[in-house]
Amino acid sequence: MIEDTKNLGLTFLGTGTSLGVPMIGCDCAVCVSTDPRNRRRRSSVYVAAGATRLVIDTSPDFREQALTYGLRQVDAVLFTHAHADHILGLDDIRRFNTLQSAVIPVYAVPEVMVEVRRVFAYIGRPALPGLYRPQIDFRPVVAPFRVGEVEVTALPVEHGAEYTVGFLMAWRDRRIGYFPDCHRMPEATVRALHGVQLMVLDTLRYRPHPTHLCVAESVNLLQRIGAPQSYLIHLCHELEQAKLESELPPGIGVAYDGLIAST
Ligand SMILES: [Zn+2]
Ligand SMILES: [Zn+2]
Ligand SMILES: [Zn+2]
Repeated sequence: MIEDTKNLGLTFLGTGTSLGVPMIGCDCAVCVSTDPRNRRRRSSVYVAAGATRLVIDTSPDFREQALTYGLRQVDAVLFTHAHADHILGLDDIRRFNTLQSAVIPVYAVPEVMVEVRRVFAYIGRPALPGLYRPQIDFRPVVAPFRVGEVEVTALPVEHGAEYTVGFLMAWRDRRIGYFPDCHRMPEATVRALHGVQLMVLDTLRYRPHPTHLCVAESVNLLQRIGAPQSYLIHLCHELEQAKLESELPPGIGVAYDGLIAST
């Protein structure tokens, strides 16, 4: 867990695609690898700045991620989009309701919020004795917003039919972009990301894919954004950590679960 309060920092809670790595029932070289960096839970990140702590996406692995990295504080949850691998862990926010004696805000753009609320329709129903439901304040995002000390801007990307955003986060003079699922990035989003010190971006595999960036596309896009340090996430089992890292240009790395990066 991040203890550094002088920087804007990320802990990668998960860096895998929707199926995770290893994949159930696969014996390929990556899925049976003994390098722990090739074990990837579903993509999510824990953000720390000053006294503020937030989570972007609650993956189906959220409970295990919170235990592994010792999370004790979640001031808010931000959702990039409503695909199952990014939202299905939300129920486990209950422990943070209890630990913090607080309702926790969930931020998403309206198109995403509709789907999140449909999937979690039981949240917000009247309390009944013996039921332990998440205590959530759903906050649709229509403009830049603040979570504690962090200024957040949702920026749209193309990711198949599902409405999807990434987040630009600013704290003091530090700026980070986090874009886990993306196939094409509109020029306005690319322009808004110019000047970030740290950029995190989707890369699924080497071959092109209809809803995700592939390695060559991600590298090209990251070079256009121009952050001094960038990391790739949302990898499938076709990508091996050490091999991929050796193929990338300077300044672009491959994130792995538990990696801490800050600016
Ligand atoms: Zn995903
Ligand atoms: Zn495999
Ligand atoms: Zn997705």
